[in-house]
Amino acid sequence: MKIIIDQIKVPPGKKVRGALKVGELPDTSEIMIPVTIINGTKKGPTLAIISSVHGNEVNGAEVCFRIANSINPENLSGKIIIVPIANPLAYNSRIRKTPQDEKDMNRCFPGNKEGSITQKMAYTLYNNVIKGSDFLIDIHSGSKSFRMVNFAKIFDESDSFIKSKFFGFKFVKVRTTLEGSLTHSANESGVKSFCIETGEGGRLEEEFISETLTNIINFMKYLKIIEGVPKSMEPIFLYNEERILSPKGGLLVPNVDVGQKVRKRTVLGEIHNPFTGEKEVIKSNSEGWVVGIKREPQTYTGEKTFLIYH
Ligand SMILES: [Zn+2]
Repeated sequence: MKIIIDQIKVPPGKKVRGALKVGELPDTSEIMIPVTIINGTKKGPTLAIISSVHGNEVNGAEVCFRIANSINPENLSGKIIIVPIANPLAYNSRIRKTPQDEKDMNRCFPGNKEGSITQKMAYTLYNNVIKGSDFLIDIHSGSKSFRMVNFAKIFDESDSFIKSKFFGFKFVKVRTTLEGSLTHSANESGVKSFCIETGEGGRLEEEFISETLTNIINFMKYLKIIEGVPKSMEPIFLYNEERILSPKGGLLVPNVDVGQKVRKRTVLGEIHNPFTGEKEVIKSNSEGWVVGIKREPQTYTGEKTFLIYH
């Protein structure tokens, strides 16, 4: 069976690279969302893998690059649709939101055909990629200068299939519904979906790229899209978020890394005052896992420095 996405036609056993046209820039050059479709020789489900809905979160774009290059359609049962740069306008500007209309694309799904440019991009992706898929993985990172541990993120109303199939991920965060997000909209239309958060916005980090790649390949094995025995591991479910805000301004010197378990009153880091030579110790208020760390040392009073989950 041939699949058609916009003008991209992919016969079985082929890998095709194309793009979805969404609009034009002021100089009339086209706004295009790049898409790679790998159509297997054997039948199976369709998996969509999407990155950079937030333009400065690019670890996932490199993950998409590697998957698109390494998967051979001869070894595939089903289809993979890869969108490495979901929001090219934000990506080109190296920022989270679309600069043209200042919208956060992950609040715009399922999109609006007659809306602003971000709503149009969301509409195009939703109707041409998401609707025709059975499964969706949406890859994100922490914001710029904020590192997140590698984890899967699901909504508490997620299908029981999705809830139970996270072997390979050490951490799974369960959160309440986020209206307008890609995975929420996909779940609403019956596409089983989840997010991956990995590493820091604005950077490519090999450790986080490799871990994400391994987890996605493992998920593909579970879906039997590719051959192989999936690794089985019971994840640690993360429910409650505790934000540790800086009590002072100064330089943040972390004492822990993401993925580390901490007890109540563990020293997470120090704020150093270069003027007075004083230091302020930051401690955890409860036992849990370090999920996020601010990576830029310059810190103001009340700034988010650590994210602890339990
Ligand atoms: Zn994001």
